[in-house]
Amino acid sequence: MRATNGRAERWPEAALGMVRAIGVALAASLPWSSHAQVAGDKVLNLYSARHYQTDEALYENFTRRTGIRINRIELGDEPLLQRLKSEGANSPADVVLLVDAARLWRAQIDGLFQPIKSKVLEERIPAQLRSNDGSWFGFSTRARVIVYDKARVKPADVDTYEKLADPKLKGLVCTRSGSHPYMLSLIGAMVERSGEAATESWARGVVANMARPPRGGDTDQIRAVASGECGVALTNTYYWVRLVRSTDPKDRDVVAKVGFVWPNQASSGAHVNISGGGVARHAPHRDNAIRFLEYLSSREAQAYFAEGNNEWPVVEGAETQNPALASLGTFKAESVPISSVGKGQIAAQRILDRVGYR
Ligand code: FE
Repeated sequence: MRATNGRAERWPEAALGMVRAIGVALAASLPWSSHAQVAGDKVLNLYSARHYQTDEALYENFTRRTGIRINRIELGDEPLLQRLKSEGANSPADVVLLVDAARLWRAQIDGLFQPIKSKVLEERIPAQLRSNDGSWFGFSTRARVIVYDKARVKPADVDTYEKLADPKLKGLVCTRSGSHPYMLSLIGAMVERSGEAATESWARGVVANMARPPRGGDTDQIRAVASGECGVALTNTYYWVRLVRSTDPKDRDVVAKVGFVWPNQASSGAHVNISGGGVARHAPHRDNAIRFLEYLSSREAQAYFAEGNNEWPVVEGAETQNPALASLGTFKAESVPISSVGKGQIAAQRILDRVGYR
């Protein structure tokens, strides 16, 4: 679900009139292709796969603090990486933000980042939440959890990812597409800890249990559990917390019907993913890019992640005011290193193809 109401690209106000006048398709390459920008400009070109409306405040605050204006392009992870690749050395991108560990890994392998040295980032961001060569840094975390229909399903029957393949849950399981990064990372982590054969038989079991073919986003899965179409589903935590915080009576109704469990608490722990980013390989404004990444690790930016999009800060001591997020409590997280989840996604996709998990 995109929070930008279909407007995938954002431009500085001055450019917007022109954009509207000449049409979005043509304008997509205009303002940045003039090569008028030089390293000293107070500008940052941001390619972002984050799709959360509440990020506006995060970016505006950076501009207020530094005077550096942000030109932003928002695309899904995959189209964004494709665009970076096709632009090559001419890419205006300074910073690339992605919402999944597997995609960050992919971008690193494809050489789309330039490794940087930043004492600030190295001090603030735990080593397991960044690449070991300075290519990318995690700025927030989210967990992938299980939600269930309180009227039909007992929490003890759905308290591990493994149980989603149990024949007991036949006709009850819903997920978004298996090939979505959030699923690939989850399954990739499973490959890392349980091996390919066990993961394949698990995936086969999940497919056999499906209430419907995979479709929609995470919020759609939660709503489908509430409507009775699905008995159990997977979601990232922030989508759940967004509903918990909602004052819309329809959302209140959803939250009342749906239960939430932390998966695998007696075993491997809940799967955790990150949103993160790095400096683009050919960044025209490298210094601004590093400054922006350092800003994302600041206390105030970390608070935006928690308060705006209901994610957990990665920087120790970051203070947040989000009672709904806090109400989820603490949990045991999976120990598969974020950087190895990426490798597992290739095996994960192979498995999905073999078992017909779309
Ligand atoms: Fe998301």
